[in-house]
Amino acid sequence: MTLANLRLQITRKAKQLGADLVGFAPVSRWEELNEVPAPFYPQHIFPFTRTVIVLAVPVFIPMVDTTPSVVYAELYNTTNRILDEMAYKLAQFINGKGHRSVYFPRDAYGDISALIDKPEAAFSHVLAAKYAGLGTIGFSHALLTKEYGPRVRLVSVFTDAELSPDPMPEKELCIHCELCSKCCPTDSLLSSQKPVADMDKHNCSIYHQQLKQRFCYPCGVCIKVCPIGNDRKLYGQPTQKYLKEKKDLGKEVNSNDYPDWTHIRNFGSL
Ligand code: SF4
Ligand code: SF4
Repeated sequence: MTLANLRLQITRKAKQLGADLVGFAPVSRWEELNEVPAPFYPQHIFPFTRTVIVLAVPVFIPMVDTTPSVVYAELYNTTNRILDEMAYKLAQFINGKGHRSVYFPRDAYGDISALIDKPEAAFSHVLAAKYAGLGTIGFSHALLTKEYGPRVRLVSVFTDAELSPDPMPEKELCIHCELCSKCCPTDSLLSSQKPVADMDKHNCSIYHQQLKQRFCYPCGVCIKVCPIGNDRKLYGQPTQKYLKEKKDLGKEVNSNDYPDWTHIRNFGSL
């Protein structure tokens, strides 16, 4: 089988397994763009790797709108489970075609407390997705896609097959509205002229630990409020409501302006 044919089959299989977006990144991009230290390169993590295949599934705006809630927490867990299962099955499929393949699990940390002392992951799915042409990195540090803005979850499959790469977008998708920074409940995204915010990861992790104890982890506000993404056309764009939410709910947690979101928050979590 030619590599072009294998690429087609991998794309078709990934879609059959439920991937919404699929992108191919050659390992050379980690070296050329040199944005992380060499031990974080896929070719250092699994030395046979020549291509990283990134799979993405969306999270639905009306569910993430309810965050912090058990409804968004369950959505987050479901997407992680789907991604890990898809990645496992895709790696198995590629192995069956005679090429070495493994995957890097979705949330590769044992507990949020591990991120408080060590906030970096061993491998960044966000960076892999950028190199695989799925989108660009926004001010919030999340991957922004034209289809779903930052409301995508990602997983990566490594293979020794040298598959032709997807082009990386030339234009940044982030419009620097800073809604993510203004709405962040912990002020962890520090306003600046930089393309990507200075982020207080420790602060963000401490908040996540509290949410985990309340059964409504993760936060997700910075992905909920982002105006980028065609999914806004489907569900609407209540950005003014987002801007007011932090202030209004600070005064009255059951404000009548947010009856749907606050109802869900009042049940199933603490
Ligand atoms: S996840 Fe929440 S706390 Fe962390 S940066 Fe985003 S909005 Fe702020
Ligand atoms: S909310 Fe605005 S500033 Fe933040 S990532 Fe989205 S477009 Fe960029």
